[in-house]
Amino acid sequence: MNTVIPPWPLPAVPVARSDALFPVRRIFCVGRNYAEHAREMGGSPERDPPFFFMKPADAIVTSGRMDYPPLTADLQHEIELVVALARGGRDIPAAAALDCVFGYAVGLDMTRRDVQAELKAKGRSWEMGKAFDQSAPISPLVPAARIGHPQRGAITLAVNGQPRQHGDLADMIWPVADIVANLSGYVTLLPGDLIFTGTPAGVGRVACGDRLEGKIEGVGTLSVVIAQE
Ligand code: MN
Repeated sequence: MNTVIPPWPLPAVPVARSDALFPVRRIFCVGRNYAEHAREMGGSPERDPPFFFMKPADAIVTSGRMDYPPLTADLQHEIELVVALARGGRDIPAAAALDCVFGYAVGLDMTRRDVQAELKAKGRSWEMGKAFDQSAPISPLVPAARIGHPQRGAITLAVNGQPRQHGDLADMIWPVADIVANLSGYVTLLPGDLIFTGTPAGVGRVACGDRLEGKIEGVGTLSVVIAQE
């Protein structure tokens, strides 16, 4: 390939118990997918259609260390089940959606809450609150061929050993199949796409030096330290 600047490495997530990598194409995220979290964010827990935002593919962090980002005094954690697609399509029926899934991971939708709140109040796009560098720490992917498609199980996050977030996958307002189906109406989904599926209640602030320990029953764990840049 004749490129005018050097090409960069393909963003990729390790596959658990394997030397293989899952290359990342795009990162889609679902807002407000657990009723308790919708309430804590001042919204209604009613079953509105899912809504989506994105992060750049190279926002993923697989090293277990995330630098504290600039221009925020309120960096917050959102523990989420992440879906990795091996196949895509457009207008995928919910009944066929899980056939597109390669596997699952534990992810953090790290959020500059103060920036997001300010943008939201002005009716502007959330991007700089959500789609910043290193804003998507993620665990190794576990193939669905091994664990199936988890539809219930505890999803938790602790900071420095103190429990912060707790929920159950069964409490998702829109389960994975419905999310894939709905999103594929907006865009043609493609192999390599990741979907962060929303966070349970208990989101909160982190500081430099904090250790975040996320866990999803039946999927895995994610450990991240917030470092000073
Ligand atoms: Mn989120």
